[in-house]
Amino acid sequence: MSESLATVSYIGATILFILSLGGLSNPESSRRGNLYGMIGMTIAVLATVSGPRVTAAGIPWIIGCMVVGGSIGLYASRIVKMTQMPELVALMHSLVGLAAMLVGFANYIDPAASAHATGAEKAIHEIEIYIGILIGAVTFSGSVIAFGKLSGKIGGKPMLLPARHWMNLAGLLIVIYFGRQFLQVGSVTDGMTALVVMSVIALLFGIHMVMAIGGADMPVVISMLNSYSGWAAAATGFMLNNDLLIVTGALVGSSGAILSYIMCRAMNRHFIAVIAGGFGTGGGMPAAASGGAQPAGEVVPILAAATAELLREAKNVIIVPGYGMAVAQAQHSVYEITRHLREKGVNVRFGIHPVAGRMPGHMNVLLAEAKVPYDIVFEMDELNEDFPNTDVAMVIGANDIVNPAAQEDPTSPIAGMPVLEVWKAKTSIMMKRSMASGYAGVDNPLFYKENNRMLFGDAKKMLDEVLVALKA
Ligand code: NDP
Repeated sequence: MSESLATVSYIGATILFILSLGGLSNPESSRRGNLYGMIGMTIAVLATVSGPRVTAAGIPWIIGCMVVGGSIGLYASRIVKMTQMPELVALMHSLVGLAAMLVGFANYIDPAASAHATGAEKAIHEIEIYIGILIGAVTFSGSVIAFGKLSGKIGGKPMLLPARHWMNLAGLLIVIYFGRQFLQVGSVTDGMTALVVMSVIALLFGIHMVMAIGGADMPVVISMLNSYSGWAAAATGFMLNNDLLIVTGALVGSSGAILSYIMCRAMNRHFIAVIAGGFGTGGGMPAAASGGAQPAGEVVPILAAATAELLREAKNVIIVPGYGMAVAQAQHSVYEITRHLREKGVNVRFGIHPVAGRMPGHMNVLLAEAKVPYDIVFEMDELNEDFPNTDVAMVIGANDIVNPAAQEDPTSPIAGMPVLEVWKAKTSIMMKRSMASGYAGVDNPLFYKENNRMLFGDAKKMLDEVLVALKA
């Protein structure tokens, strides 16, 4: 393929990626968005592999790597459960970071990569390498820790080392110092020393940054690492002189940054404080350590039959799904109940919190899979004021996102986080297996509210029982 044809293909792929992002912004067009992305990626890979910069000797290597990587990816995506998707995404971000690191080192060692560069051009190329490896290393280690936290292999409690901000600052100064050294050294061997020292510090910083984040703040970290992985890819594009990689990386990086901003707003965190790493101190503290008031009172359990009765008599119902619905794979049963109630003239709507579940859009994906109509699925802000006019608010496997302590207890670790105000409905029903807390490890006073009922059990099992009772 000639250089100009490759460029045209890259432009086509770029347009498809932009259309893909546009499509993914809305559930109704998200399938189309995915399709555009897949076509764009196929064109990008084909144009690169058959492009003028790949020699015939390199083709078998590329095909071999694609077969191995593709097989692993295919296998992983087939066996992964829906509840493990956030972990898989974190793992994939880590691979982008690792790739940026490896490309950076290879690019520096490769004599052909900068053979003709001198003066400013050489300095710019070396800065690209240095920054590329830096972002890649932070993304890699940070994402591995995020994977560990999301999969429960590493505890959710924040690891708050003494003087941690000073340690981060010291790390930054060392990285800047070695960056200067790196640009001044004459030989590749000396340059490698600076690169390796910087990589070790960047890896440690990535670990430290994510370890310091408490459970409640994890959504921001997930979207931030998403953004970092985009910038890591863009940096790789600069190193390899590949325009498509630069554009694609910038798209992922900036859309991840926008998502981080949305997540920050949803969690009442300050974006600047987050990117400066100055968070997790208050927000992420586990309940016991933070000294938040312990909720107390009487819990009123309810059975499936009585739940069905309440739903049958209701005119307005709001369903609030959370992580437990994903664990129980209860979305299809939820849909069956919704359909049944709507046929009987009940106004059923869904309230989705921006950080419900374990990844952005988690609940929307599940509800779309169960074919719940999009026009009855609302964001938190769109229906939070409607709870006082709601007969039944049914919480399915959600906990943190409906915790009134966020509004009522200023000492709570999640104080200030906007939540779905289900307790303002005539009756709220919480469907979960036990009195356990949610991801943030914070007790929930909703359990003890007078108008709240607890429907204990696995969400799918309980919903199926409710459906049977409704149909009876
Ligand atoms: P939570 O983690 O707060 O609560 C989920 C609840 O589901 C648990 O209390 C659990 O209680 C219950 N549950 C688990 N399994 C089942 C089951 N089989 N049947 C019924 N219930 C079940 O989830 P939320 O969605 O309310 O909140 C999301 C939390 O995750 C927030 O703290 C958010 O910050 C965090 N987070 C979100 C991310 C995102 O991007 N969306 C990323 C990372 C973290 P029990 O054990 O008693 O059944």
